Amino acid sequence: MEIKTIGVIGAGQMGSGIAQVASTAGWNVIMSDISDAFVQKGLATIRKNLDRSVQKERITSQSRDQILARTRGTTRVEDMKETDFVVEAAVENESLKLDIFQSLDGICRKEVILATNTSSISITKIASATQRPDRVIGMHFMNPVPLMKLVEIIRGLATSDETFGAVKEIAEKMGKTPLEAKDFPGFISNRILMPMINEAIYVLFEGVGSAETIDGVMKLGMNHPIGPLELADLIGLDTCLAIMEVLYQGFGDSKYRPCPLLKKYVAAGYLGRKTGRGFYTYE
Ligand code: NAD
Repeated sequence: MEIKTIGVIGAGQMGSGIAQVASTAGWNVIMSDISDAFVQKGLATIRKNLDRSVQKERITSQSRDQILARTRGTTRVEDMKETDFVVEAAVENESLKLDIFQSLDGICRKEVILATNTSSISITKIASATQRPDRVIGMHFMNPVPLMKLVEIIRGLATSDETFGAVKEIAEKMGKTPLEAKDFPGFISNRILMPMINEAIYVLFEGVGSAETIDGVMKLGMNHPIGPLELADLIGLDTCLAIMEVLYQGFGDSKYRPCPLLKKYVAAGYLGRKTGRGFYTYE
């Protein structure tokens, strides 16, 4: 099936990034969120990123205008009926994703592939909310989407080879490098990354070092481009906690228990960059 229009569910940091790379690759994009304020914020982020690319002479102002003209926002999930491929990037919550996939299944034509950008939740489980589990797949982009090369691709139990091949091709057309992971909690990326971040939070919690020192050790000593606490703030502490809970419940192993300090910060609304405060404060 020829893809002309890509749907993106969620206009947050990941959804807006996915919409940007999809429209930059030449597709029409419809990006949805639950309120117009969120949709407008997502569109403004795309515009700001593209303006920066024009300033840096990576794209012309004419191509910026064309990319923006291909990108439409909506608060109506029913508008996804016009799409030929959908990527869901709403918040990391299993029951929410099951509801979204159940409604997409009723809205989108039966041949349309439904992908999820989940960081950790079972693709098999999400697919079970639809009548098309062979056309449901994990397409896990990295943050910030326009800059990061990797897309982790995860098949659910019933995902077909055809679906896998089509999604690999879409990722490549977006300029990304797809790598396959099996459907286990956190896949490959967050199975390794998130316990490290959680451990860094324990190190802070136990007073072993300050946030700056912990991040400094990992940057200067391990050559990480960004420290684990800075990265947690970038990802969003709510998303980090949701992923740790999926790992903890999914493996039933106490080594994945989320740090109490992470839980406390999320309860306080300190979600990182997106709320202006996490382990650090932001303008
Ligand atoms: P975010 O909080 O920035 O954005 C989530 C958006 O989803 C919000 O704007 C919210 O209003 C919207 N939303 C909630 N319910 C919705 C619904 N029913 N329909 C449409 N939109 C809805 O979160 P994010 O960081 O963009 O994460 C989104 C997804 O991407 C999560 O599954 C997360 O695990 C995954 N992910 C995040 C990162 C990261 O670094 N933050 C990286 C890879 C994958």
